[in-house]
Amino acid sequence: MSKLFKNYEECESVIIIMSEDLSDKSLKNIVLAMNVSASLLDDKDKIYRLTQTYRSALWDIPEAISQGFHKYLRINAEETKKMLSYHKKHCPKDTTCKVCSNKNKMLIRMRNVNERKEPQIYNK
Ligand SMILES: [Zn+2]
Repeated sequence: MSKLFKNYEECESVIIIMSEDLSDKSLKNIVLAMNVSASLLDDKDKIYRLTQTYRSALWDIPEAISQGFHKYLRINAEETKKMLSYHKKHCPKDTTCKVCSNKNKMLIRMRNVNERKEPQIYNK
């Protein structure tokens, strides 16, 4: 799996985009995995931690179940990488950019699912 992403940064940006169809519960697990990964030193460990969590979240996606998680992840990660590298060169850098606006929507959703969990942690 480490060959799928050249580094953790790439892995994280691809997984953020690919998490669009996940449930809030699964997305919360992704956010937790990203927090854990941030504390790890080795890129390979970080990538492993995040992709394992993403794979277990694929039960949310019927297409992934029928296709097989490994295949689904590989195909979609390759497509998303291509899309992101095209975007890097061609982003209009304004509000008309769909990629940026989708990414921002995901980041807001991720922050929200994460914040909803915090009171449970701190009330204990
Ligand atoms: Zn953009």
